[in-house]
Amino acid sequence: MRYISTRGGMPPKTFTEILLSGLAPDGGLAVPESYPRVSPADMEAWRHLDYQALAFQILSRFMEDIPADDLHRIIARTYTTEAFGSPDITPVRTLEPGLHILCLSNGPTLAFKDIAMQLLGNLFEYTLAKTNDELNILGATSGDTGSSAEYAMRGKRGIRVFMLSPLGKMSRFQTAQMFSLLDDNIFNIAIRGVFDDCQDIVKAVSNDRDFKQQYQIGTVNSINWARIAAQIVYYFKGYFAVTQSNDQQVSFSVPSGNFGNIFAGHVARMMGLPIKHLILATNENDVLDEFFRTGLYRPRTTAETHHTSSPSMDISKASNFERFIFDLTERDATRVRELWRSVDKGNAFDLFGTALWIKAKDFGFVSGASNHASRIETIRNLYQEYKVLVDTHTADGVKVGLEHREPGIPLICMETALPAKFAETIQEAVGIEPSRPAGFENLESLPQRFEIMDKDANAVKTFLVQKIKHH
Ligand SMILES: *Cc1c(COP(=O)(O)O)cnc(C)c1O
Repeated sequence: MRYISTRGGMPPKTFTEILLSGLAPDGGLAVPESYPRVSPADMEAWRHLDYQALAFQILSRFMEDIPADDLHRIIARTYTTEAFGSPDITPVRTLEPGLHILCLSNGPTLAFKDIAMQLLGNLFEYTLAKTNDELNILGATSGDTGSSAEYAMRGKRGIRVFMLSPLGKMSRFQTAQMFSLLDDNIFNIAIRGVFDDCQDIVKAVSNDRDFKQQYQIGTVNSINWARIAAQIVYYFKGYFAVTQSNDQQVSFSVPSGNFGNIFAGHVARMMGLPIKHLILATNENDVLDEFFRTGLYRPRTTAETHHTSSPSMDISKASNFERFIFDLTERDATRVRELWRSVDKGNAFDLFGTALWIKAKDFGFVSGASNHASRIETIRNLYQEYKVLVDTHTADGVKVGLEHREPGIPLICMETALPAKFAETIQEAVGIEPSRPAGFENLESLPQRFEIMDKDANAVKTFLVQKIKHH
């Protein structure tokens, strides 16, 4: 299997060739030349596999240039009971017949991003070792992505992480989670500014091509294909857990921001997994809900982007969405290029009334949005009815999922973070403190290490050079 760009300007490449790169050279996103199809015999055999064996079956189809033995080892090292809390890795919790939560948040940082990021850490280390290369990951975070990346890359040979965050703007829990990492390949840089200032610095450094090349600067953002591939696995795992036979359909409800998680569900469906609906749930930042309701895709400005009680979904545009439009246009790179010529300038496109919009119905997407009040109400209802506590992101998915629930079709709601990360909102909803998993009790009192810097790209570059040369 080889990879092409959604904008048609990249000669086909192997998986390891696209693993470490961000955008394709033409500005598009890497996608497989075609999706592998899963046969009825595969489905029959896969139903009985444990997480690691299932992951191998799925990932090996996307990572053909990694030798099978090596991929087995990488998967075994990644998906351990120790790292994810149970041998199931993504266990299902059944609230009542036909209503389930797929628990994706028992990894090291208590959010679903760990499932993909932990694999990415091991894949990066493996491929860098083969070529004797180094990688310096530069990123900006306002919460989950940064800590998930750091926990995946800590202690990895050939990799350093430089993570910018807005000084004093993250929750105490999130700050402690990142800043208490004392590994010598992890560098936390707290910027005197807001998240957008951090992102601007990352952009400025990445746009300096010579610097980027000389110091082997890379990223780990949500457009990385390996992250999508890793997320496909739990759609299959969740399906097998709640069905008895492979002719049954299920629907998934997915709290969405950058369209990475639900896009993995789309790929699973294209591979042949019997998914009836992919229920896309947004918070007040409803760019994607608006598209799936009306056909209008309108990226927001920073000023129009709300800070919500589900902060990991506070996005102004959805970076993986271009991949879906590529499939919707039957992989017409010219059309994608035209549409994104306008998106890249911050403009909208509207498919309403076109043949594409009619065709969009065939992909199983439906959508809805939550607001703070409806998330609080959902958290409270689930607690009262089932004695189950969910976080604000998961609540968003459950709220919208229930609106689209159909008789006879099991509904699987993705749990994308644990309530312990958002204790304040849980207090507001149900008046109790969510319990913390073992090992997190004293997080905020652990020693912390971080640099404080002004919002100055040159100062950050100087810091990077100094650390890269001396570590
Ligand atoms: C990242 C994140 C999301 C959104 O996932 P996307 O793949 O960006 O759509 C939802 N919930 C939580 C807790 C997250 O960290």
